[in-house]
Amino acid sequence: MSDGERQRTIAKCRSCSSAYAVDVWDDGTIRPIGRTNCDCGLNDFEIIGDSSDTIALYGGN
Ligand SMILES: [Zn+2]
Repeated sequence: MSDGERQRTIAKCRSCSSAYAVDVWDDGTIRPIGRTNCDCGLNDFEIIGDSSDTIALYGGN
């Protein structure tokens, strides 16, 4: 029994490549934290890393 096991990670929009912190649910749902869709209006994200990688991702690694 679970009220929603979630993993926090980083994903980018497949359309405009904007990156967001997201929660990934057990069923595979990727949901940006604090929003429903990307600013471009789509809701199709590709996981690019976990939260511990965020600084490295934006540090040019
Ligand atoms: Zn987008």
